[in-house]
Amino acid sequence: MDYNLIIIRFGEFTLKGRNRSRFEKRMFSQIRTALAAYPGIEAVMDYGRIYVHLNGEPYRNVCERLQSVFGIATLSPVITSEPELGAIREASLKAMKAFDSTPRTFKVTARRAWKEFEHNSQEMNNLVGGFVLRAHPWLSVDVHKPDIELRVEVRKEAAYIFSEVMPGAGGYPYGTNGKAMLMLSGGIDSPVAGWLAMRRGLEIEAVHFHSYPFTSEQARDKVIELARKLSFYSGSIKLHLVPFTEIQTALASINKDNLMITLMRRAMLRITEQLAQRHGALAIVTGDSLGQVASQTLTSLNVIGRVADLPLLRPLIMMDKQDIIAYAEKLDTYETSILPYEDCCTLFVPKSPSTNPNLRVVEKIESILADLDMMVEAAVEGAEVLDIQPSQRSAATDAGEDDWF
Ligand code: ATP
Ligand code: MG
Repeated sequence: MDYNLIIIRFGEFTLKGRNRSRFEKRMFSQIRTALAAYPGIEAVMDYGRIYVHLNGEPYRNVCERLQSVFGIATLSPVITSEPELGAIREASLKAMKAFDSTPRTFKVTARRAWKEFEHNSQEMNNLVGGFVLRAHPWLSVDVHKPDIELRVEVRKEAAYIFSEVMPGAGGYPYGTNGKAMLMLSGGIDSPVAGWLAMRRGLEIEAVHFHSYPFTSEQARDKVIELARKLSFYSGSIKLHLVPFTEIQTALASINKDNLMITLMRRAMLRITEQLAQRHGALAIVTGDSLGQVASQTLTSLNVIGRVADLPLLRPLIMMDKQDIIAYAEKLDTYETSILPYEDCCTLFVPKSPSTNPNLRVVEKIESILADLDMMVEAAVEGAEVLDIQPSQRSAATDAGEDDWF
């Protein structure tokens, strides 16, 4: 195919007045990071759009890679030509060849952004449409529901001819809405919650609690792999691995089996909040989904959440499991998440965890644990930080072409 350029259009953040240029710059750098594997490609920012010059690189893989970058509303692979009728007509014929299936109907939608160009939009529709029709006599024009809408955009520097408008990931450029800590377990939910938070422009640092040696080396590798998969969407991600064995053992020794999960979650939140403070994060993101398990009843969420001062963001709170799984598959985290290695929570999981914990009872128990604060402090100090980079997977194996959510 003769596509030589990709046009990238921005999403809703363009409404953001004064912040616009900051957002655009950020997105430009995210796009360059995403395209680092293609050194021949050149990205140029111009009037609220980004043009990616393919310089011979096949467009499909590049489009797929770009579809993972937050802040992009849509993108189109484009054939460029001189802004001159003859050249535009030839380019339009080439663009019609791009289709695997033979279209039966089409229409031309021309836009004259360069007002000095000799033909206006309506004239261009006819001049280009008529030319394409003569070359493809089996086609007919359908202005309402054409198989193909051939778009022609005439600018001073070039004309752009395209028919595909692919959806981007949407949202805000990564990191333009501040930073949050993501509580990343080895499960299905929290990586999806992380991705949704990232798409909203939040920079994410992940926090994972492990109970080594009760939890295995594989469990650690699994969460590293999940963080790596998330880093594909951000460029890189910090992962804090927090030793939780001591606290967990202390909590288990109280013998309040049914409150174990509640107590663990609260301790995790305390630690995460301190890490947030140290690293300049202003929120905590979790994979909680209302009613999914005992710790996610409204009462549990309330008793657990009370321990934190920072806002708790729960992107999945109202989502059904099937929808969450669909995201996980799309993001390529699902297969990793369902690996069977034990999480620190499954280890000590009680037979009947309370779905209705009482805040005063829980606080009372915690007050008996005299050195809880010290243990929390020690866990924060003992956290190991990894800087996770995406693996070099080829764009062809990434998310497919179909719509993002
Ligand atoms: P997930 O699929 O994300 O593990 P889940 O449905 O299994 O979620 P829980 O195990 O109750 O639910 O966990 C709820 C949330 O608490 C998780 O989504 C995650 O944000 C946080 N969490 C649980 N365990 C850990 C852990 N070991 N390290 C970090 N965060 C955790
Ligand atoms: Mg879990």
